[in-house]
Amino acid sequence: MVLPVWWRKRIPRYRFVGALCKDCGRIHYPPRNACPYCGSRNLELVPLPRRGVLESYSIVYSVPGDNRLNAPLPIGLIRLENGVRVVAELTDVVPEKLENGIEVEAVIRRIGEDGETGTILYGVKFRPALGRK
Ligand SMILES: [Zn+2]
Repeated sequence: MVLPVWWRKRIPRYRFVGALCKDCGRIHYPPRNACPYCGSRNLELVPLPRRGVLESYSIVYSVPGDNRLNAPLPIGLIRLENGVRVVAELTDVVPEKLENGIEVEAVIRRIGEDGETGTILYGVKFRPALGRK
């Protein structure tokens, strides 16, 4: 990923926010400039709950580009506490021991490095929730 793109998206990634469509009420993650359901551009950033339930997951064994060293990559479909569903990488898990229905929480983790500048990039991943249920 090139750094300028990363820079523009840094706030949503670090703060874990979605985009609320003020016309149809849907919340999108990652945030978008236009609502894919109603086409509205009347969206605002809203904080998302950091906890949710893992509804489904997939293990990606064939990972392209610089991320191939991270294979296998567990990717989860997570239903957040407000009902919004997000797709995100899972971390701190043993892929063979993953189960649907476990509680997970969002954490900020290293997600890569800018090839040209060497800048380390961080973003939101989910891990099994600690300390509750
Ligand atoms: Zn909408």
